[in-house]
Amino acid sequence: MKILVTGGAGYIGSIAVEKLIEAGDSVVVFDNLYQGHRDAVHPDAAFVQGDLADRAAIDAVMREHKPDGIMHFASYTLVGESVQKPFMYLRDNVVNGSNLIESAVEHGVRRFILSSTANLFDDPERMPIDENERIVPGSPYGESKYILERYLYWMDRLYDFRYACLRYFNACGATAVRGEDHTPETHLIPLVLQVALGQREKIIIFGDDYNTPDGTCVRDYIHVADLADAHIRAMRALDGGSRKYNLGNGRGFSVKQVIETAREVTGHPIPAEIGPRRAGDPDILIASSETINHDLDWKPQYPELRQIMEMAWDWHQKHPHGYEK
Ligand code: UDP
Repeated sequence: MKILVTGGAGYIGSIAVEKLIEAGDSVVVFDNLYQGHRDAVHPDAAFVQGDLADRAAIDAVMREHKPDGIMHFASYTLVGESVQKPFMYLRDNVVNGSNLIESAVEHGVRRFILSSTANLFDDPERMPIDENERIVPGSPYGESKYILERYLYWMDRLYDFRYACLRYFNACGATAVRGEDHTPETHLIPLVLQVALGQREKIIIFGDDYNTPDGTCVRDYIHVADLADAHIRAMRALDGGSRKYNLGNGRGFSVKQVIETAREVTGHPIPAEIGPRRAGDPDILIASSETINHDLDWKPQYPELRQIMEMAWDWHQKHPHGYEK
C-alpha cells in the first residue's frame, strides 16, 4: 500500500515509517518539522515539508501521491502543555486533523489510523484500562484526540470511511537508527538517560507519596517498534471494519523502577531527588491490550523494561545530542 504518514519525522511516526518500508509499503511523510527531524525520515520515503493548517498543501499531496491510507501522528502531544495552552490543542490539533480528514474524504482515501491517546481515560474505574472504559478526557490534549475520534465515527457512518483509533500511554525505546529527541525534553526515560550522559545533574522524581508499592507513579511503557507494528496491523485490518484499540505493555513500572533499571543498564549512579507532585498525575495507568491481541494477534515484542532501556540507551549514546546536531 501507499501510506501517507503525518508526523513521519517525529518520534513514533518516523519509526512507523521505518517499519512500513521494511514491510514493503511505500510511504509519503508530511511533517512541518516543528518537533520532527528531517534526518529521522527514512531515506526511501518521499518527504513533503508542510503544515496541516494549510489545506491546499494537503490537497496537493493527495493529488500527487494518491495514498491508499493515512496514519496520522502529527499533533501537539503534551498533557501538561495542553493545560497551559488549551487553544493550541483544542483549536490546532482539531483543525489540523479535520483538514486532513476532509481532504482524505474529498480525494477518495478511505483508510485512516489515528494515533490517539490513553489520556481519554481520566479516573478509570478498572485497571488495566480496556475499551469499555468510560471516556473522560483528562486534558485539552486528550479532548482534542477524542474530538478527532468522533469525527472519524461520522466519516465511517456517512462515507464508508474505515478507521482505527489506537490509544496508548508512554511510548519509549528506539530502533537501531531512530529514537526519541524532543526539545524541550519532558519524558522520564530520555531525561534519565541525559543524566547518564552527563547532560543533567540529576533526575527529579515528581512525588513519592502516591498509592503505589514504592510511592512513585506507575506507568505503561510501550516500545515504539511495538506501537508501529500495531499501527500497521490495524491498517491492514481496516477492510474488516473500523475499530478502537487500547495498547499497553501488559504491566506497569514505577518511576523508581525506571531509574533503577537505567542505573543497571548505563552503569551510571543517576542521582535522583524527590520533588513535588506534577499536577494531574494519577497513581497508576496501565492499558489492557486484550482486544487487539485477540483481533490482530498483536502483542508487544519488547515488554521488558530492561530491553526497552538498553535500546534507548544505545540510541542516545550514538546520538548524544539527538538528530542533526
Ligand atoms: N516523571 C518524573 N520526573 C521527570 C519526568 C517524569 O518523576 O522529570 C514522572 C511523571 O510524573 C510520570 C512518569 O514519570 O509519573 C512518566 O512521565 P512522562 O512525562 O515520561 O510521561 P507521561 O506519563 O506524562 O505521558
